[in-house]
Amino acid sequence: MPTEVVDVIRGAPNKLYIAGEFRDATGGGKFATFNPATEEMITEVASAGLEDVDAAVASARKAFESGDWREMSARERGRILWRIGELLRANVEEVAILETIDNGKPIFESLYVDIPMVSEVFQYYAGWADKMHGEVVPVSGKALDYTLREPLGVIAAIVPWNFPLLLASWKIAPALAMGNTVIVKPASNTPLTALKLAEIAAEAGLPPGVLNIVPGRGSVVGNALVEHPDVAKIAFTGETATGQGILRKSADTLKKITLELGGKSPNVVFADADLKAAAAGATIGIFYGKGEVCAAGSRLFVAKSVAEEFIEKVIERAEKMVPGDPMDPKTRMGALVSKNQMETVLGYVEAGKAEGARLRTGGDHVPIDGKGYFLRPAVFDKVDNNMTIAQEEIFGPVLAAIVFEDEEHAISQANDNPYGLAAAVWTRDVGRAHRVASKLKAGTVWVNTYNRYDAAAPFGGYKESGYGRELGMHALEHYTQVKNVWVDLS
Ligand code: NAD
Repeated sequence: MPTEVVDVIRGAPNKLYIAGEFRDATGGGKFATFNPATEEMITEVASAGLEDVDAAVASARKAFESGDWREMSARERGRILWRIGELLRANVEEVAILETIDNGKPIFESLYVDIPMVSEVFQYYAGWADKMHGEVVPVSGKALDYTLREPLGVIAAIVPWNFPLLLASWKIAPALAMGNTVIVKPASNTPLTALKLAEIAAEAGLPPGVLNIVPGRGSVVGNALVEHPDVAKIAFTGETATGQGILRKSADTLKKITLELGGKSPNVVFADADLKAAAAGATIGIFYGKGEVCAAGSRLFVAKSVAEEFIEKVIERAEKMVPGDPMDPKTRMGALVSKNQMETVLGYVEAGKAEGARLRTGGDHVPIDGKGYFLRPAVFDKVDNNMTIAQEEIFGPVLAAIVFEDEEHAISQANDNPYGLAAAVWTRDVGRAHRVASKLKAGTVWVNTYNRYDAAAPFGGYKESGYGRELGMHALEHYTQVKNVWVDLS
């Protein structure tokens, strides 16, 4: 292991973070987290139990009720969030290394995309802290009526393993900006960067109890947060089935819920598109982040007249994305997050072949020095939109190419899926671009690009991809509630 990695691991917190302190789990429980590129254990992390969840909720509740955070001047809250962003940038290498060894994603991605965007998300919401205000309402009669935007209370953020710190920040930053307190339940595969963030936030001046981190099992910790009467809201990102379970359970305490769930996003390429740019976009659209991206462009719809030529271009690019050591700055295809995930993806590759799709390249396990969950990027053509590989979320580097006859055929196939997270359209015809964008049932539509995100641009799902929006001003709605105050003036 390179010495810089050893040093980062040595400095990485691995205990629960509750009430401003790192501590062991009450029952002494721990779980191991592994590097998917080497299959070696990175460290053991404290595994929260029910008593620890109670302690985290009590700490967040106390920090909320005390007013230390919510009654702090909004501008000062903003300054602390801004400082978290600055410290993330100052520590970007350390945090990026942690993310890469825990998740298997190329260091190029952690260092230049994930962690810089985490910093931007904190700084974007720092700016909102003192800009959410109420209105005066022109009611009838002699009265002054106004609205206040108040925080909800304790927010539980339950996050997946694909963008561990980034997806946590999409929840933590707007929640804190609005004066809430937060408990984060990171995914068991990738708990390390959330714990590091706790350290950074404390250094930035965040008061104790305002941010708590409780790694542990989803069925124990996640479930206890969903059931807890003192948690006001669950902000969840993960699988659709897990989200559905959370939604059912949350009915008992009528929690506010936002759900960012799975996807099977269509990427539609018309014959008049800049095919070189579209091929680059289609390749990055599915293979960036090893395809473990909720918005991955996993269904490629290509106009029949250019299909052959276009799919060739994508294959050529896919074959250049050779899996390699995620710590090598030149690597663009890392290791899948776990053996389990790799086996799921390999199962889909087999299903594609069995259902009659043609595997043109990749889709095989290629360990490096006998280790690691590396897969070569897979491209299937001759796919029918009804096949399993075109309907189910694979969450790995597998592309299903489907041919269409005309615009209407492209749109009807693209929308023929239960998910609706993202979509893209490639064309030089400006009318068609807007027409198709308006007809695609997806929360984000990219035109002549793919996988573009910004702290200011709202992101979230149509249909079974969830509800609520993260990022942008739209997220703030989900971390505040409106109070109406009616003052009699007669
Ligand atoms: P997952 O649903 O298995 O787990 C997500 C989180 O929920 C983890 O922290 C897990 O421990 C926790 N959890 C598990 N069971 C729980 C329960 N019963 N109660 C409460 N919490 C529980 O998802 P994953 O495998 O970590 O992530 C992959 C999924 O996330 C994919 O489906 C992907 O599309 C989705 N995703 C969506 C978005 C989006 O923005 N829409 C972004 C990234 C990932």
